[in-house]
Amino acid sequence: ATARYRARNPASERLLNEAADVLPAGNTRSVLFYSPFPLYMARGEGCHLWDADGHRYLDALGEFTAGIYGHSNPVIQQAIVAALQDGLSLSSHTAREAALAHEIQRRFPGMALLRFTNSGTEANLMALAAATAHTGRRKVLVFNGAYHGGVLSFGGGGSPVNVPHDFVVAPYNDLDAVRALVQAHGPQLAAILIEPMLGAGGCIPAAPAFLHGLRALADECGALLILDEVMTSRLSGGGRQALLGLKPDLTTLGKYFGGGLSFGAFGGRADVMSRFDPRRPDALGHAGTFNNNALTMAAGLAGLTQVLTPAALDALNQRGERLRERLNGVFTRHAVGLQFTGLGSVMQLHATDRPLRNAADLAGTDDRIKALLFFDLLERGIFLARRGLVALSLPFGETQADEFVTALDAVVAARRPLLP
Ligand code: PMP
Repeated sequence: ATARYRARNPASERLLNEAADVLPAGNTRSVLFYSPFPLYMARGEGCHLWDADGHRYLDALGEFTAGIYGHSNPVIQQAIVAALQDGLSLSSHTAREAALAHEIQRRFPGMALLRFTNSGTEANLMALAAATAHTGRRKVLVFNGAYHGGVLSFGGGGSPVNVPHDFVVAPYNDLDAVRALVQAHGPQLAAILIEPMLGAGGCIPAAPAFLHGLRALADECGALLILDEVMTSRLSGGGRQALLGLKPDLTTLGKYFGGGLSFGAFGGRADVMSRFDPRRPDALGHAGTFNNNALTMAAGLAGLTQVLTPAALDALNQRGERLRERLNGVFTRHAVGLQFTGLGSVMQLHATDRPLRNAADLAGTDDRIKALLFFDLLERGIFLARRGLVALSLPFGETQADEFVTALDAVVAARRPLLP
């Protein structure tokens, strides 16, 4: 299979070899590398990609959920051009950033005050800074397998950097274990930081009762509950918190809110966030040359107000639910022990069919199975993440869902003897 992949993709291999002279493994995002070499995409349109060798792919990855608008949404493109014509970096407050903040607050009413950053990673770092300053405490409860950014990850092969907080790591979806840790560390806990669905950790949703339980535990010990909705914000207009009636103290956002450009936001309770008001004597600093960059603000605002209505998001998530059922139907029909987990328009392939509650449940699953399906699907023109992540974009409709299901069916039928 590797020999066929090499033969099919000479331009990508050549580009990787050239890039590796200046960039470790040829790139600046570790998640994008896979052996023997990753595909070099040259162009995108709608929900399709063309690689350097001219192959066309159905884009089922959607830039790890940030690419919700697809590659060529005309509203986004026009907003970017309009902002460009107004001048790029104005060294000032701008009306666009307030407009985008208002639109986000309409959708996330718990974000009484918010601020922008360049990435979801920074949003989480700033939320932790807010929580430690507000509580005067240092410890942060996080979860095994969680991913909150390149410098805040708690799964296998995690970050070498993890910022200098005092982290207490709990098992996901295990309220008894969290309760015991809160009993031990409660008076020192500044925050409980959690993704409402483990994203990079495998699209494993938190049980609603678990999240509500965390809310109660945070209240008991005086820690802030920080919901990292960087990935799950797309599950409804108001994120997963709106679906569950959950009220975090702080929320972090990223991905699609910038219309496909780099973006992050953190916000929540006014008494916590007002510490970022520079007029206060005890103000916390928060800087960043590109925090309010014109293109992100314009693309984000146009996308939310003209394209991605809450109804459009609901429809996208319903398409995702249906697709996941159909993909899992393929596995059932061929009686293989595989599954797609996830919620709405975000899902992840696993080489096991046992129920998944947290990172520990993934121990021992065979990554070679996912590699096999990944390369087979590529040959049939379906592009997803090497690790098995799928995230739908708006242009990904029923025709594309049919294509994906048909391709998976053919691949599973052909590989049946090798699959669990
Ligand atoms: N939190 C979660 C839940 C994420 O999925 C990600 C990105 N995959 C981040 C934070 C970090 O966002 P960024 O890549 O924009 O720094």
